Amino acid sequence: AKGAGKNQVTVYTDRLRSERQDYAQTVAGLRRALKDDGFVLHYQPLVELATGAVRGVEALLRWTPPGQRPVPPDAFIPIAEQSGLIGAIGDWVLRRACTEARPWYEQHGTTVSVNVAGPQLRDPGFPDTVLQVLHDTGLPPRALTLEITETDLVATTMAEADEVVARLVKIREWGVRVAIDDFGTGYSSLSYLRQLPVDILKIDRAFIPPDRGDAGFRPDDLTLTRAIVDLGASLRLTTVAEGVETAGQAELLRRLNCSLVQGYHFYRPMPALELAAVLTGPVAV
Ligand code: C2E
Ligand code: CA
Ligand code: CA
Ligand code: CA
Repeated sequence: AKGAGKNQVTVYTDRLRSERQDYAQTVAGLRRALKDDGFVLHYQPLVELATGAVRGVEALLRWTPPGQRPVPPDAFIPIAEQSGLIGAIGDWVLRRACTEARPWYEQHGTTVSVNVAGPQLRDPGFPDTVLQVLHDTGLPPRALTLEITETDLVATTMAEADEVVARLVKIREWGVRVAIDDFGTGYSSLSYLRQLPVDILKIDRAFIPPDRGDAGFRPDDLTLTRAIVDLGASLRLTTVAEGVETAGQAELLRRLNCSLVQGYHFYRPMPALELAAVLTGPVAV
């Protein structure tokens, strides 16, 4: 038993060491990607349920280090935030998304949504960055949506949260829209939501009921979905359901009067060239 205890300590310190190495390697890799144009954006359509038309796209960051497999954003975004690289990466994402989306907006009226991380929002220079990028790329403000999470708003001090809200109010005055991402997974109170300068509620896929096929949806599973869609409507927000994977789920959300959906049932995230072909093609449903 004595030997086993020592062994555990060794395993533990080995793991700490290798996690530290992973972290350092990821940070170095992200720095390199920024320098060598190593990132790309994929775009996932937001589909209007009533018509099947693509109304917008969400830009999603992709990183494949040279000679390696793609690293999922859930694995590297937190490291980008911790290391302070998220500012530069976020700027790159915003600029690239606005550049690529301009012809889509001009030709098809398609808007673009960009994910914004907490540290970007807490940067007093963020509104100026947005204005500069819109100016440089020629994308009209109404063609841009910024996606922020509840958690990023709440995980700050009250004073900081007030400053973030003031920044969003300013950006929204230019016509840029703001979406609350992953809605329902954070801890913001409903009264707080009412005060937030937002236009769009994105319902996290955790609240999309599992499709049990012929067994139908379980009534209990629908309660929260319906409540969130109705909440969005009563606050006069556009509701977007994420993670719609089946025709049954799409039909259910249509019945619940959810306006937009996003998910593998319609489209997976795809490179800009593929998206351009989708936009010129026939509608999805
Ligand atoms: P998110 O903002 O909630 O993005 C939606 C995620 O759901 C994407 O994962 C998308 O590929 C995935 N998804 C879409 N439809 C379906 C579906 O039908 N089923 C399932 N199971 N998943 C679906 P992805 O691209 O891996 O991104 C993960 C997260 O990484 C994003 O979640 C977002 O929080 C973050 N992220 C991605 N790109 C950026 C970025 O440019 N900046 C920042 N700050 N975060 C980003
Ligand atoms: Ca998002
Ligand atoms: Ca989301
Ligand atoms: Ca998410």
